[in-house]
Amino acid sequence: MDEYFKELGQPNFRAGQVFRWLHQGVESFDEMTNLPRALRERLKGSCALDVPSVERKQVSKLDGTIKYLWRLGDGNCVETVLMRYKHGNTVCVSSQVGCNMGCVFCASTLGGKVRDLNPAEILDQVIFTEKDSGETISNIVMMGIGEPLDNFDHVLRFLALVNHPDGMNIGMRHISLSTCGLVNKIDKLAQLGLQLTLSVSLHAPDDETRSRLMPVNQAVGVELLMDTCRRYFETTGRRISYEYAMVEGVNDSDAQADQLARILRGQPGHVNLIPLNEVAESPLRPSRRVRQFQQRLESHGITVTVRRRLGGDIDASCGQLRRRRIMEGEAHIPEEGLT
Ligand code: SAH
Repeated sequence: MDEYFKELGQPNFRAGQVFRWLHQGVESFDEMTNLPRALRERLKGSCALDVPSVERKQVSKLDGTIKYLWRLGDGNCVETVLMRYKHGNTVCVSSQVGCNMGCVFCASTLGGKVRDLNPAEILDQVIFTEKDSGETISNIVMMGIGEPLDNFDHVLRFLALVNHPDGMNIGMRHISLSTCGLVNKIDKLAQLGLQLTLSVSLHAPDDETRSRLMPVNQAVGVELLMDTCRRYFETTGRRISYEYAMVEGVNDSDAQADQLARILRGQPGHVNLIPLNEVAESPLRPSRRVRQFQQRLESHGITVTVRRRLGGDIDASCGQLRRRRIMEGEAHIPEEGLT
């Protein structure tokens, strides 16, 4: 933007002014009231200002969680969730329209990936959630629709923007990025040494179970994934958080807890157990052994937390609201997005 305004023959501070306006969530150049009128007209003629609009919004009566379904410039929709915790408000953002990873328990992947989000479309989820809710956001989790490491360059650009002191100024230590385990990209991320928290969706300690739940495992395997995670810790010094969605009769036995403890040996990881959210299209059911599984892991000296369920009365988990809209037949999905 500095270069762009220099080319227009504008003073140095213009780029900063526009950058700050964009982070206020303005919807037109006319709202940028400290720019000369002639410049606003010029920008209108040469730049596009695309903002998301609220397609649907659900507010939980139980805990104030808000779920947004945003309509993007091309008519596609993605979800963002605002969660209220004691340590501050957290938004869960999407990184792609749909997802290609095919995890069998996940609603986001049911129609495949339509397209990647661009950096601004990821950032806008934070800006416009703040603007619509009137709440200040202090933490970000990249755990919405999509696989962030499958959209690596745009996600990194988003991280740089959301971290920018003249923008949202959200510190890397307040950001978590969740991946199904794309090992080459985890290595690439490690090289950047960012202070964010990496969450790895593990969901099973053995190849047979993990491949059944997550097709991505067929190409990678648990052993290579865990080697990569250990390397990530050694390179960055940041401990990894392992997500484990508890599925009845699939990954919730004591033997699997013992095996999980075994593969985590040698690194200071942390396990986050997630009670499975039921998805209408899937036969998988939530486990009733979450506490036993937790205790079994703890008996091996593993640090375990159980993810608190927020927004239980709304469609607050991964991809459910977008999915519902698609099933109701209102969605605009380009043909190439249908698999
Ligand atoms: N693609 C990334 C981030 C998106 S999902 C990843 O795979 O990590 C964020 C987390 O929610 C992941 O751990 C994912 O496996 C989990 N998840 C998806 N569907 C779920 C469901 N129905 N119940 C519980 N957890 C689910």
